Amino acid sequence: MDSLAFASIKELREKLQKKELSAVELIDASLERIKKYDGQLNAVIERFDATTVVPQGSPDDVLHSPLYGIPGAVKDVICQKGRAATCGSKILAGYVSPYDATGIARLKSVGAVSIGRTNCDEFAMGASNETSAYGPVHNPWDLTRSSGGSGGGSAAAVAAGFVPWALGTETGGSVRQPATFCGIVGSKPTYGLISRYGLIAYGSSLDAIGVNTRTVYDNALVLGAMAGLDKNDSTSTRQTGPFDYVSALTGKIKPGLKIGVITNALSAKGMHPDMVTALESALEVLKKLGAQVSEVTLPMMDHGAAVYFMLSRAEAASNLSRFDGVRYGYRDHEASSLREMYEATRAEGFGHEVKRRILIGNYVLSAGHAAQYYESACTVRRMMRAEFLETLKTVDLLFAPVSAAPAFKIGELADPLQMDLQDYFTCPANLTKLPAVSVPCGFVENMPVAFQLIGPDFSEKEIFQTLHAYEQATEWHTKHPQL
Ligand code: GLN
Repeated sequence: MDSLAFASIKELREKLQKKELSAVELIDASLERIKKYDGQLNAVIERFDATTVVPQGSPDDVLHSPLYGIPGAVKDVICQKGRAATCGSKILAGYVSPYDATGIARLKSVGAVSIGRTNCDEFAMGASNETSAYGPVHNPWDLTRSSGGSGGGSAAAVAAGFVPWALGTETGGSVRQPATFCGIVGSKPTYGLISRYGLIAYGSSLDAIGVNTRTVYDNALVLGAMAGLDKNDSTSTRQTGPFDYVSALTGKIKPGLKIGVITNALSAKGMHPDMVTALESALEVLKKLGAQVSEVTLPMMDHGAAVYFMLSRAEAASNLSRFDGVRYGYRDHEASSLREMYEATRAEGFGHEVKRRILIGNYVLSAGHAAQYYESACTVRRMMRAEFLETLKTVDLLFAPVSAAPAFKIGELADPLQMDLQDYFTCPANLTKLPAVSVPCGFVENMPVAFQLIGPDFSEKEIFQTLHAYEQATEWHTKHPQL
């Protein structure tokens, strides 16, 4: 059944409909492959028992439910009913979610099945998967390299052919950066397109569920199935759908499509020279497809990582205050007073990076410093969104790198500043709330690299249409790592 490993959802669905394959066989094959190969990767922290993963509905639903019987995996920060959810942290040990996140419930309602939980940086804080309490995820293209993060497990699981889709989450780039490092498609939708209900919060004004897949079509399909208004999340879109992102995937781009290349991003310090070459070749393909490519500069983008640093820590400090040993997960039992119990639980339960962020977050929010740090960061964030929207009046979509270089070695970025700079290309889309999707565009040092397109609010359809045309005109999506 290894032959199914790299089939797309579209292909699997055809096989299921023609009864060349049953949902049970497909799910078993996926679980088998994880069992066989994940020892090398550490991408999946829990593989569900086969008897507990059955698609909702009846086998006849395969004819109309778009994801019937299609296995996928879910980042450990998204709640799945009756399953553990630990955010890659010790502090949530033993926590079992009593409900499904809205995204999960919607995927289940169209027949999709989650077959496990994927590894991630602790509370999604990181860009390498090295802060996870479960250890790092190894990149399937080169086991000595990082999968990227924070959603390294989801990206590696899809790249390695364990599952055709895996959910990730983004606060500052945690789907697109690992997807890039692992050579697959990664999406970060418009803020609010997908409900945050059931996504354990990191930075609430930034958090979004996103999707990892091997093809653009599959990504559009899975994303569309989760989108739309949810009464359980007051920040979710008012739009109710249906969200059909696939009918626009014709292999052609919109006639006259204008793409603005963010030049200050392409000429950023530290760009690998071969990366620039790969990005330039991608632009040539887009031009051949008919896109009108021009250069734009977005000076505010250069402040993104600094602004993101402050806002994400501030929101994290506030969101993570609920983990105190009383209601969820781990509790220290040695303590002799309530205060001691809080302190010991948090000291033992949280890892180093999370503690660092809580400290910084409380500092930037504290009485004497909030105006200088938190409030200034909010102002710059608003200016950044204004600048992006202004530029998006002159072009349809923006073109940017996702990373300056391919995946680094595990342990290589020991300097936290270098790690934080990983967010430079990705966090502007989170700060501005705009949708962004990345797609592979070549290899540097034999490792996959990618570019991303960023568009106006709710322009997912146009982004997918353009990237699908690009993908069909190139062969990067046909390359897979050997385990
Ligand atoms: N690397 C970023 C951070 O550590 C992004 C994380 C994310 O998107 N969840 O905050």
